[in-house]
Amino acid sequence: LTNLKNKTVLVLGFAKSGKAAAQLLAKHGARVIVNEAKPYGELTGTEDLEAFGVQFVTGGHPLWMFDASLHLIVKNPGIRYDNPVVREGMRREIPIVTELELAYWIVQGELVAITGSNGKTTTTKLVHEMLLADQKQAKIAGNIGLPACEVAELVGENECMITEVSSFQLKGTLHFRPHIAVLLNIFDAHLDYHGTREDYIRSKANIVANLTADDYFVYNADDKVVKEVAATQKGENIPFSVKNRRAEGASHEAGTVYWQNEPLLQTRDIALPGIHNLENVLAAVAVAKLLDVSNDTVKSVLATFTGVEHRLQFVKELDGRKVYNDSKATNILATSRALNAFEQPVVLIAGGLDRGNDFFSLAESLTNVRAMVVYGETGDKLKEAGARAGVPVIEHTNRLQEAVKEAYDVSAEGDILLLSPACASWDQFKTFEERGDCFISAIEEL
Ligand code: ADP
Repeated sequence: LTNLKNKTVLVLGFAKSGKAAAQLLAKHGARVIVNEAKPYGELTGTEDLEAFGVQFVTGGHPLWMFDASLHLIVKNPGIRYDNPVVREGMRREIPIVTELELAYWIVQGELVAITGSNGKTTTTKLVHEMLLADQKQAKIAGNIGLPACEVAELVGENECMITEVSSFQLKGTLHFRPHIAVLLNIFDAHLDYHGTREDYIRSKANIVANLTADDYFVYNADDKVVKEVAATQKGENIPFSVKNRRAEGASHEAGTVYWQNEPLLQTRDIALPGIHNLENVLAAVAVAKLLDVSNDTVKSVLATFTGVEHRLQFVKELDGRKVYNDSKATNILATSRALNAFEQPVVLIAGGLDRGNDFFSLAESLTNVRAMVVYGETGDKLKEAGARAGVPVIEHTNRLQEAVKEAYDVSAEGDILLLSPACASWDQFKTFEERGDCFISAIEEL
């Protein structure tokens, strides 16, 4: 399968990762067909690939592409399994992978892969920062960097590749085997894509599918589902726990963080707020220690790392209110975690794309919320959750910019002003980054 010379490979979807995959495949001697639903005129960067002999089939998904006797299909992680080409590929038993699998095939250095429902980017970035601060060679890949298969080519033998991986990517792996696999947590998420919870869990668990006794599995020992994955995998288990002190792995008790039996640092010396971030910290500590990062480096990075943009990112102090941008919180759980991170009263701005779920479970987390300002498609449903918790709700069916003004008006000195939408951004914005930037500029304009 991995010998691609003169084999025909179909790359399905021409986004950032499809481009990288097509380039890599062509470079390794494959005959590449790129199939993209958008018309040819809307694509950029086609000429570079055509110069490598890559052929484009655009504007639809015609099944005649299968006449070319395909050796492999490399699917964009976002394309669902009910896509007609994917279904035909499965019917013909053609292996279907994502670019993550290709990255594994070619990477020379040590591969670290980090997944979970929430916390992936934060943890990935933390590990990367710790390695760099310790003068180690490391490259970051995934959501916040370049696609994995693009980075994989640049990683040297003595280098680490720290990769954030999603359940969509993991669903399309076959031989993928990181040296260190990390599983942060598993909640219900992306059920629209995976169909069932079982499929989602199975995809996440693919991260350990090929581990051997030489590999490590850093896992959240406080998460029941994650523990079940640990119980059956073949690598060395390295637990982490924010709840119980443990002799192995990374753990926390009464304000002290331990690596194995050794007290490492105090939680008050960690710049990232919130117990959820402590989970990410413990996971990062475990990976860093497995990769021989010094205790001093671990401590100094944790003292200064204040988070990744749009993830409970401290924006500024505004007339005695602390403003946080948590635009990345696209589900209820992420918003609950953000709320739990604060002891001060919070004015919460939430809303966005309606995916058909309800928000009842958010009500439990609204205990220290002074008021909620809701906007966008989910405004009404969020209003119900607020009413359930007895929180005053200011409804703003229109735009985030206006919601920001309302939120400021109801806030008081000493409050937290928080955007943590609990919804995807696509009703009004292209990305959660765009939403976060819009929030920050609305704050600046106040
Ligand atoms: P991901 O890359 O998995 O989406 P991020 O690090 O970007 O995760 O964080 C996304 C959001 O999820 C943040 O806004 C934060 O509020 C929440 N979050 C971060 N880490 C955790 C965690 N360990 N458990 C639960 N929620 C978390």
